[in-house]
Amino acid sequence: MKTVICNWKMNPKSFDEAKRLFAATKKLSLTTKGTDIVVLPPTIFLRELAKSYRGVRIEFGAQHVFWEQEGSHTGDTSPAQVRDSGATHVLIGHAERRILGETDAQVRMKVAASLELKLDVIIAVGERERDAHGEHIQQVREQIVTALADAPPARYKNITIAYEPVWAIGAAFAPDAHEVHQMMLLVRKTIRDTYGERAFKLIRVVYGGAVNKENAEAIFAVPDLDGVLIGRASLDPTQLESIIKAAQ
Ligand code: PEP
Repeated sequence: MKTVICNWKMNPKSFDEAKRLFAATKKLSLTTKGTDIVVLPPTIFLRELAKSYRGVRIEFGAQHVFWEQEGSHTGDTSPAQVRDSGATHVLIGHAERRILGETDAQVRMKVAASLELKLDVIIAVGERERDAHGEHIQQVREQIVTALADAPPARYKNITIAYEPVWAIGAAFAPDAHEVHQMMLLVRKTIRDTYGERAFKLIRVVYGGAVNKENAEAIFAVPDLDGVLIGRASLDPTQLESIIKAAQ
């Protein structure tokens, strides 16, 4: 089953709008079967949305998390609090967090702390730019290897790697299907080479960056792809509908 992860980022501006957006997303999930939908709203809307829509086939997650379960960390949210809000997922290492200073070492701690509470973690990795020497490949490899370093094998089934080239996030164009496939293979090979067959079989891999209704079919045709992570398109029900249909 393919997964569509909806990263609302810091949208919408009010809870009323968030409820309307969620209602539209829910409607699509009811008319389109066979696709897992995960919605990542702003943390401040998370508990209320998750509570009001318990039992709906959609799952909820937070967009970022701290690596301790409680304590003096002003403005942060812990995996325990995410779990307590009714969410089941957490996105870790998104490019928009890394740009604010989140490091690979912090991603590793956040992944371990979230898996400890049996949250499903979506780990975002991806190069800022590409260069002719292939250094971006090494960068992506390192992000994956470090992020998974403290993940217990029993929790591999709770892990998704989202390959998101930073240059495609919020951009007009996604890489073509061949390039996406090459990177899917690289991600999977890195997982297998470093963490073995069990990790290779259980860890899911999705693509994110400028997915829209025009390119969704081509992207879902990529072999070895378990789903997509979408930003802008998750805020537009028309776009979302086409992407969910392509996922089916
Ligand atoms: C993202 O937020 O990770 C993302 C992929 O955004 P967009 O789909 O808007 O490029």
